Amino acid sequence: MVLKNKREECYPEVWDVPISALPEIGPGREKKLNKMGIATVRDLLLYPPRRYEDRRNLIKIKEMEEGHKYTVLVSVERARQIYLRQGLSQARVLFRDDTSSVEGIFWGRAYLTRYLFQPGKKFFLYGTIEKVQSRLIMNNPEYEEYTQEEANIHTARLVPIYTMTEGLSLRSFRRWIYETLMNVVIVDPLEEKFISSRGLMSLPEAVKRLHFPEAIDDVEQARQRLAYDEILQIQKDWLTWKVNNIKDKSVCQHKTDGMILTTFRNQLPFVLTSAQNRVIDEILEDLSTPKQMLRLVQGDVGCGKTLVALHALCASVDSHYQSCLMTPTEILAEQHFLNLKKHLSSLPVRIELLTSSIRSAREIRKQIAHGEVDIVVGTHALIQESTLFKNLGLIVIDEQHRFGVMQREKLRMKGHAPDVLYLTATPIPRTLALTVYGGMDISVIDEMPPGRQPIKTYIIPEKKREGLIQFIIKQAQKGLATYWVCPSIEKSSHREDLKPLLTIYEKLHSNAFSTLRTDLLHGRLSFNEKAEVMSRFAQGEIDVLFSTTVIEVGVDVAHATNLVVENAECFGLAQLHQLRGRVGRGPYTSYCFLMSSTTNPVSKERLRILCTINNGFEIAEKDLQLRGHGEIGGFRQSGDTDLRFVDFTRDLPIIQQARNDAIQIFKS
Ligand code: ADP
Ligand code: MG
Repeated sequence: MVLKNKREECYPEVWDVPISALPEIGPGREKKLNKMGIATVRDLLLYPPRRYEDRRNLIKIKEMEEGHKYTVLVSVERARQIYLRQGLSQARVLFRDDTSSVEGIFWGRAYLTRYLFQPGKKFFLYGTIEKVQSRLIMNNPEYEEYTQEEANIHTARLVPIYTMTEGLSLRSFRRWIYETLMNVVIVDPLEEKFISSRGLMSLPEAVKRLHFPEAIDDVEQARQRLAYDEILQIQKDWLTWKVNNIKDKSVCQHKTDGMILTTFRNQLPFVLTSAQNRVIDEILEDLSTPKQMLRLVQGDVGCGKTLVALHALCASVDSHYQSCLMTPTEILAEQHFLNLKKHLSSLPVRIELLTSSIRSAREIRKQIAHGEVDIVVGTHALIQESTLFKNLGLIVIDEQHRFGVMQREKLRMKGHAPDVLYLTATPIPRTLALTVYGGMDISVIDEMPPGRQPIKTYIIPEKKREGLIQFIIKQAQKGLATYWVCPSIEKSSHREDLKPLLTIYEKLHSNAFSTLRTDLLHGRLSFNEKAEVMSRFAQGEIDVLFSTTVIEVGVDVAHATNLVVENAECFGLAQLHQLRGRVGRGPYTSYCFLMSSTTNPVSKERLRILCTINNGFEIAEKDLQLRGHGEIGGFRQSGDTDLRFVDFTRDLPIIQQARNDAIQIFKS
């Protein structure tokens, strides 16, 4: 492949640098990439495609059949700009190969005719062929100029499809990855001999094949190498922790029969599940011994991990230690904070919230340093240098995989050998958990709170929209609220089929839902605005909350029993399952409505999995099994897990190998 970018001198030499080191990434894009969990060039290059689309079916125009998707290699015959009402524009381009001609219609992109679609230039087009009267048309096809020197990345090959955040285009993202791959030097930390003796690909090769495989088998080989590295990393983390830990002499020993914990237990509004009780016992046992705790609590969304962690926090207060609960997002931190306050309201415990947008952060930090705060709930703000604890004895990290090792270690360094509890919903089979997480102690909550019915999940085609709207109104009259989730905030000219949040909101809010109380929640609101909307929703002042996926994690409102997801086919299954975790949190029957008119059989099949299975782990497995049914792909999406590449169904040998190797490497 030949360099596509002439500015290679702008690229950093290595991949372990902030993403802003790349030529096209300014502060705005950096922020959006951060949202996708991408902070460094390494994160970018290890961001797994959600799937791959096979666009290798290059054929002649004459051979194309209506309603199917193809790639064609064509040249521009003529191009026109068309201006319609309301500022809408189109580029209409007539393309031709040696058999026939096809018209490409590019909505909202009349400007393309000016510099791109010039007569004589050659392009690959990929899209669905339609017939209007006797003319062949492609609406918004994917396009890419064909030249001798440059490799094609969007068409005529296996093309990676990524889950994107609002405001970034898939096309640019793919190009950034490609250009970065071409220009950045990836050094394999492992020796060639070592790697090849284990039958693995080199790291640079694996990263390249992950995004731009030549053949489908490439992806599997790349995956194996990256899975090996994930396990190796976890094992190394753990071994590092162990060594540091042996050096620490002063170990926190907690009291587990104190007044706070006892009172808290006695006034819990519900009965704990036996899984919760077992895990609480395991944790309290750890806390009461002089041994330092490093325990991972694993359990599906909604199984009640927070409540379990609360027991540990109470024990810490009884022992006159400070403790903290760190979360990856502000919205989740605020939720935990309010939850904690509610449960501990009658007890003499001082709880504070610390996030980067809290106005009184300085004052709160002072109080923490003076030991005036018992429990601090917060985000990354907890790790900052200016946050100092007087005597931090316990750390709880929610969604632990969303933090890097360094971040977790930094927080740990703020205390003297504090006990550590990690919470995660990463769906890992119990039999493998021990091998994967090495010497870490593991507790599994494998039971859901009682009385919780599975969430009734349905696929709703467009023609049933009206019925759904009526149902939501009836629910609202009973006091049961709804989350209405859309894939993007605004209309995108590239994706005419997507239902934008603002449009949907405007339509429903002023018509069908005019008698209901509605509001909006999305990433462009400030933290305070978001918190304000969320708290009104939690208090029952909003019937239908129109939102983007910002509600994805951890938000907990018992009377919110309905979830509607527009364009459900655009989301990953793990993400839909996470979203679905927002409902079914109280005693009422809950519903999840997946709006989708997709005709793609694999997409339909994927959505059907959600209708029949309620268990996150099984969903992930089924999702992976669908690999190879016409659509290729399936990596766990970043943000869900620290194990994006490991395939639990068949990687046991790789896991064991990596584990043994980590111990060997660590020794030498
Ligand atoms: P997750 O494991 O996803 O973090 P949470 O801790 O947020 O789950 O708990 C989900 C919901 O279930 C919360 O509303 C919590 O109060 C409730 N809950 C937890 N344990 C029980 C229980 N034993 N009985 C009833 N409700 C419970
Ligand atoms: Mg949680």
